[in-house]
Amino acid sequence: MISFKNVNKWFGDLHVLQNVSLEIEKGEVVVICGPSGSGKSTLIRCINRLEPIQKGSISVDGMDVNDPRTNMTQLRAEVGFVFQQFNLYPHMSVLENVVLAPTMVRHMPKAEAGAIAMKLLEKVNIPDKAHAYPSQLSGGQQQRVAIARGLAMQPKIMLFDEPTSALDPEMINEVLDVMKSLAREGMTMVCVTHEMGFAREVADRVIFMDGGLLIEQNTPEEFFHNPQSDRTKDFLSKIL
Ligand code: ADP
Ligand code: MG
Repeated sequence: MISFKNVNKWFGDLHVLQNVSLEIEKGEVVVICGPSGSGKSTLIRCINRLEPIQKGSISVDGMDVNDPRTNMTQLRAEVGFVFQQFNLYPHMSVLENVVLAPTMVRHMPKAEAGAIAMKLLEKVNIPDKAHAYPSQLSGGQQQRVAIARGLAMQPKIMLFDEPTSALDPEMINEVLDVMKSLAREGMTMVCVTHEMGFAREVADRVIFMDGGLLIEQNTPEEFFHNPQSDRTKDFLSKIL
């Protein structure tokens, strides 16, 4: 579903992705962890070309991400993205936030988009807030709306970049629970997170990045109990 072949990216002199090769299968749940500044956000932002690359290639569901002929609207419709900051439109209700992309990009009739949005709000356990505004919601609720919005285009892949890092501790689980149920439904997911309980429970694979390099990848079982690289061991000793 997602394929990185010898991907290299620089920000000026900073070699932020160094020869990254990675294959992610349909339905796979992959967790990416690693120290701050190691290139995790950059890596997942390359998947829908929020960041261009300078060398190598990335394909998503058969589309070459960096080929100028690729239909970016189609590519981005297949890839939902949830950020650390929820980025909801403050002047729109929850429901309006969720129906925006399907009505504007897919030209779906308002009633149909609204019905789908209500189903998604039920899925993220927040149907009662459909007519509230983002400022009236807690961080955990806003992030669940952001997930519903990400799902509204019926994507094949969901990317999460530290979705719980900006949340108060008591709200983290309500967001992780929604992500877990998505994972169990077979969604292809790439999640940058340091929530190692989540990784243990639902990840098929955990990837460790450091300094722009993909250092190690393994099943959660092996990754946590039998880390290979000293850098991985050092990182795990700090966060576990
Ligand atoms: P992570 O998500 O693992 O914390 P990032 O992918 O955000 O790491 O950043 C990797 C490196 O690239 C960091 O050193 C960061 O400062 C740098 N970086 C990220 N975005 C930019 C940018 N737009 N311009 C220049 N440097 C950047
Ligand atoms: Mg980051």
